[in-house]
Amino acid sequence: MSAVHGNFIGGEWTKVFDAAPNLNPSDLDTPVGDYARGGADDAHAAVAAARAAFPAWSMRSPQDRADVLDRAGTLVLERREALGRLLSSEEGKTLAEGIGEVVRAGHILKFMAGEALRLTGDRIASTRPGVDVEVTREPVGVFALITPWNFPIAIPVWKAAPAIAFGNCVVLKPADATPGCAWALAEILAEAGLPGGVFNLVMGPGRVVGDALVSDPEVDGVSFTGSVATGRAIAAKCAGLGKRVQCEMGGKNPLVVLDDADLDKAVNAALNGAFFSTGQRCTASSRLIVTEGIHDRFVVALSEAMRALRVGHALDPSTQIGPVADQAQFDKDRDYIALAAAEGGRVVGGEVVQSATRGLFLSPALVLDTTPAMRINREEVFGPVAGVIRVRDYDEALAVANDTEFGLSSGICTEGLSKARHFLRHAQAGMVMVNLPTAGVDPHVPFGGRKASSFGPREQGSYAREFYTVVKTGYIG
Ligand code: NDP
Repeated sequence: MSAVHGNFIGGEWTKVFDAAPNLNPSDLDTPVGDYARGGADDAHAAVAAARAAFPAWSMRSPQDRADVLDRAGTLVLERREALGRLLSSEEGKTLAEGIGEVVRAGHILKFMAGEALRLTGDRIASTRPGVDVEVTREPVGVFALITPWNFPIAIPVWKAAPAIAFGNCVVLKPADATPGCAWALAEILAEAGLPGGVFNLVMGPGRVVGDALVSDPEVDGVSFTGSVATGRAIAAKCAGLGKRVQCEMGGKNPLVVLDDADLDKAVNAALNGAFFSTGQRCTASSRLIVTEGIHDRFVVALSEAMRALRVGHALDPSTQIGPVADQAQFDKDRDYIALAAAEGGRVVGGEVVQSATRGLFLSPALVLDTTPAMRINREEVFGPVAGVIRVRDYDEALAVANDTEFGLSSGICTEGLSKARHFLRHAQAGMVMVNLPTAGVDPHVPFGGRKASSFGPREQGSYAREFYTVVKTGYIG
């Protein structure tokens, strides 16, 4: 029996009264470990610990805050192999993708360490003689961070690091399916010298722990990533309680391929954007919008490349597509593939793959001959599934690309500068990519979308300060 991992509250690992196995989607018979299932009492205790730590942490020198985050970044980078294995074991992305995500988390910690020292304000001349006005940014207080399973270390880090850098205290509620990386992060932050109470971890069901955190009057703000339904419910609750809130939610990201595209570049962008990380990225290219002059060549080349991808155990070095993260998502992916066929789409791939271990293996699926109105092209699947829509020309492609309730990422493959420029300006999305996959954003630039994809200020990069600081306008006479 593996060790039971407790919650981390006020600098202490708590006793575990209830735990659940952390399942490995590559091998459901060999769980990664047992992790605490906390309740509402744990959530409130963690918020109280964060509140108690806030006065001292908010007044600490920015150099001290930077030093702790920088040390944590060093530890994460030093342990990339072990953390990558843990991540790939609990989430299912390939080991290379798992290590890549860990490295990204290390880089975010180091970037945010610098941000603690780069926080600036403004000095403005008053209309009154002899009076100066200064605009400064201060920490907000206590944040609840509610994170999904698809990036189990990068998303907790890109929320916690800026919060801590600017002097706030946090309680993290990771997804029930992937508590392991969050637990490891708590351990590393403590080892890096973060005072007790600044970072707290409460694992457990979202409907219980997440809801208790959002409702707790001592929580000043909530940063959430996950589904639209949960995000909107949290945003509505926060509005009613007067809390600041930031939600990153779904996507139905288009990748437009024009007749003048470089075929290899376009196929690689589609292959990576639609299927890598098992398609479980909110920025995944799930609608491939292809003009008629290149359509057939593109579909043949992409189908061949897709068929050649090796699906298997996340830790097998030859695997290119790991398992689906959990049973619920596996069932959802298969239901959508069946629905796409029932709607009239022609499905290539999308088969259950047998393996030596009992895992959730599904080959990537391309759905041909689809229309923009089909549900497969309107609803987020969050799996290795993409629909292909044939269009006449660029104008129709742009219209179809924007015809969605979402607006996270949008891409185009073209060798023509004027179409690329036009698309950059007219794509209704938070992030626009030319000749690149729709997924894959640098760790130090703003991340977020429009329409139903996002709510509130951007995450990451220097833009993270908008959410995690509050502005004060001061007068000096
Ligand atoms: P959810 O939105 O339900 O979960 C995201 C986080 O919110 C988890 O930590 C979850 O906890 C928590 N949560 C759930 N209910 C509540 C609540 N009432 N109050 C507070 N917190 C809550 O997404 P799922 O994991 O169920 O995934 C379902 C679908 O969502 C996917 O198929 C995909 O379409 C989309 N999704 C989008 C993501 C993105 O990056 N945009 C990421 C993940 C999912 P717990 O895990 O314990 O339920």
